[in-house]
Amino acid sequence: MIDGKSVVPTRAQPADFRFEYKPSRTIAPVSDAVSSRQVEHAGNPGRSVKNVAVLGATGSIGAATLDVLAHLDRVDPQTQWRVSAASAHTRPEVLYELAAKLVHRPQCLIVSDTEAAEAVRADRSAGNRAGLEDCRFEFGPDALVEAAQCDEVDTVVAAIVGRAGLESTLAAVEAGKRVALANKETLVVAGPVVSRAKEKSGAEILPVDSEHSAIFQCLESAISAPKKLILTASGGPFRTWSHAEMEAATPASALAHPTWDMGPKITVDSATMMNKSLEIIEARWLFGLPADSIEVVVHPQSIIHSMVEWEDGSVIAQLSPPDMRLPIQYALTYPRRLPCETPPLERTRNWDLSLEVADRERFPALDLGFEVAAAGGTAGAVLNAANEEAVGLFLGGQIRFTDIVPGCRDVLQSHSHESNPPLDRLLQLDRWARTELRRRFKM
Ligand code: NAD
Ligand code: MG
Repeated sequence: MIDGKSVVPTRAQPADFRFEYKPSRTIAPVSDAVSSRQVEHAGNPGRSVKNVAVLGATGSIGAATLDVLAHLDRVDPQTQWRVSAASAHTRPEVLYELAAKLVHRPQCLIVSDTEAAEAVRADRSAGNRAGLEDCRFEFGPDALVEAAQCDEVDTVVAAIVGRAGLESTLAAVEAGKRVALANKETLVVAGPVVSRAKEKSGAEILPVDSEHSAIFQCLESAISAPKKLILTASGGPFRTWSHAEMEAATPASALAHPTWDMGPKITVDSATMMNKSLEIIEARWLFGLPADSIEVVVHPQSIIHSMVEWEDGSVIAQLSPPDMRLPIQYALTYPRRLPCETPPLERTRNWDLSLEVADRERFPALDLGFEVAAAGGTAGAVLNAANEEAVGLFLGGQIRFTDIVPGCRDVLQSHSHESNPPLDRLLQLDRWARTELRRRFKM
């Protein structure tokens, strides 16, 4: 509730809400885990091959995924890990550089932005880059969908930022792939559509977001439904700032995150705490629990990645240093656990691990997250689009930091909620909400 007024009409949770994950108890034989700690297996010819498409390979998660895959290929005794396709939107030269460094070169490199693609096409040396002679070059957004559905691909890492990742992520789910999901916005915009597609195809969606990976890990041995999912939040760079200080916040100060090194959009979302709101909605769809079973607690050290509370009052948490390579790797190797390049949690010094109550007055985005998660339907698509647009305007210096969340609230309040929209309607509302947000700021 904001100013006593709900942003979207809430409705009862569907009767079929249930604890969705039934993780297998099959884990890697201990002998493999032990031997892989010491031995490099890259030369072992008996290993099976896993082909991974990394969509958004030039971003923070994408580049970390390429590192994880190269590491796994060295240490995994059972599997060769290959990047079969990798994409960038606007910086093809970064993509080509990353690809040329891989031991197994990707079969396909995609530049999804049409303008950037034209520039590459115009460059006659495009196919002759050193080390990339055997790669296929593809262009435009349709190539992302094709890569996500390609028969040879086993796993798709959805690491594109924003609603732009929706079509390729959904395509991977529809094709029954394992989807290592970083692109939370796809679930925020189209949670019910993705859930139905998953049900139909049998795809696996494994969370990459550190909080959701933590919850997934806490739930692994569960046979009872959890009582509460407790998402931790770092609190971002403005955790201790007053509203007046936040009014004067610059893009540079919002981009200076204290514990995580991430792309610009999610970093601003962390500063407003809209990231946690998107994660509340993401958790609702991933774990099939209603919004009122989800809580947020601020944990500035980013070591406890999230927790699960059970009916008997026991709380189980997952801890590790703030390093995305661990949740990325687990989404790829699940249910196996292999050595990871994330440094172990230090145990030779005293730590302070603190938990603080989330301040929903200074960070009103949290209320929006709970309300939208409860409302479902069209609310997620509208919130996400308004937020993406507002973050862009803030980074461009066109609106203040403290305009972002009220702008999103206004757009949500002026939309007419529908509870069971098809994908076309969600995409239409995505466009509407962007225009509406700009109109509110007279742009
Ligand atoms: P980023 O900005 O660093 O990278 C984004 C990637 O998406 C780049 O490869 C870019 O080329 C591509 N891209 C951008 N716009 C595109 C478009 N219109 N079409 C196709 N591709 C496009 O972002 P990031 O921080 O790596 O985040 C990626 C996703 O992972 C986001 O959904 C974010 O919320 C989620 N996530 C990130 C982190 C993190 O630590 N960075 C943690 C948890 C979740
Ligand atoms: Mg997160």
